Amino acid sequence: MSTDSKAKPGTPASPTEATSLKDRGNLFEIATKQVEKAMKLINLEPNIAEILAQPKNEIIINFPVRMDDGSIKMFKGYRVQHNNVLGPYKGGIRYHHEANLDEMKALAAWMTYKGALHEVPFGGGKGGVKVDPRAHSKAELERITRRFTSALGNNIGPEWDIPAPDVGTNSQTMVWMMDTYVNIVGQNERNSGRGVVTGKSIAAGGSYGRSEATGAGVVHCITEWARDRNFNLDGCHVIIQGFGNVGSFTARLLSKLGAVVIGVGDAGGYLANSEGINPHKLGEHVGRTGSVAGYKGASKITRDEFFALEADVFVPAALELELGVKEARALKAKVVVEGANGPTFPEAEEILLGKGTDVIPDILCNSGGVIVSYYEWLQNKRSEQWEHEDVLDRLEKRMVHTYAQVRHYAAAKKCDWRTASYAIGLERLRTCYNERGIFP
Ligand code: NAD
Repeated sequence: MSTDSKAKPGTPASPTEATSLKDRGNLFEIATKQVEKAMKLINLEPNIAEILAQPKNEIIINFPVRMDDGSIKMFKGYRVQHNNVLGPYKGGIRYHHEANLDEMKALAAWMTYKGALHEVPFGGGKGGVKVDPRAHSKAELERITRRFTSALGNNIGPEWDIPAPDVGTNSQTMVWMMDTYVNIVGQNERNSGRGVVTGKSIAAGGSYGRSEATGAGVVHCITEWARDRNFNLDGCHVIIQGFGNVGSFTARLLSKLGAVVIGVGDAGGYLANSEGINPHKLGEHVGRTGSVAGYKGASKITRDEFFALEADVFVPAALELELGVKEARALKAKVVVEGANGPTFPEAEEILLGKGTDVIPDILCNSGGVIVSYYEWLQNKRSEQWEHEDVLDRLEKRMVHTYAQVRHYAAAKKCDWRTASYAIGLERLRTCYNERGIFP
């Protein structure tokens, strides 16, 4: 197996502020273990399990980019295509200085199961560049993105593999990718080629509702959870780790429901205010400075203090493997709602479930992005522009529908919600493989 991960075996299941991603454990092995539990539950045929155990394609590209000072720097880019039996590969592009192949493989696999769970006709993919986007000018980021896209060539395409924004990338990154792609494929595909990426700006062919989609999906799950538990969200206390796309929209939408954000944190530090933090003002501060650090409307706290805050709801919306054993023990929340992909160590999840904390898993609750990406892709195919309300209504219906399916499945099979979510997705993949068979 090709891998560039340097994960240390036996690493304790808890990160610290200083623990780098590669020292937290092998994300692909963790993802595999999670899925295997569900495979066992549904007695999945070994041949299908074997197909799903590895990605179909693992692409690594080393490419040169000219820096603003005229020097040339080499970058490493990834695109992992896990499975496409249900539709074109689909998944984000991440710009992070610790991006690595095993992380991409895990994130790509999660996309396969997310699409299958929500009946979105996409497969799973993920990619990115090993780069700290904060260390580069806008012009350098544009050249990195365009060179990476041209190096990917026809490994991406609207009917083959469709990237989207993820950590460290945004609608501008997607517009550069799209523009580069349509300029390489030829003039008769300039219009249809726009569907090569989703998460674009509206002017460049994006969908209304895409920017807030993941946060909106997270909030629909919280609303459904509160209804199930007879819990009043009005006035409840929320803490959110990560204040980028997912974390900031989750905070804004939750505050509309009367929930009070009492703690936030990001790569720059952690803050608390028991009276509530205004997510709009904090968002403006982050827009100006790039971090929650230094925001005047809350006090600085440590990471340990953040996890011990008296909150009802915790939304991890930063990176993977942030919620370890120590954090799980400290958490007082009644529910953990995984806005981020893979934020929880398996050992930490056991502790949470053991003490009665509900865990709404990533592939169920952070799927708003891929669902509205599907709507964007459809709009591009049909040369349509749907109304904002229409997109958000469709998203809500689909989130509520899938949430109810997982609730029902978990109760019927007496399993945790993560296993139930994978199992539902796996059943759909199984049906498809059994009906289509293996060529030739
Ligand atoms: P983003 O780049 O907009 O924001 C990431 C946030 O995480 C930032 O606030 C950053 O400071 C914080 N962060 C980074 N390292 C951290 C650390 N060590 N400790 C604390 N905070 C840290 O990214 P995003 O798009 O909001 O994605 C966040 C998570 O949600 C990721 O796991 C991503 O895969 C997942 N996700 C995103 C989408 C989407 O539509 N953007 C969809 C589904 C899942």
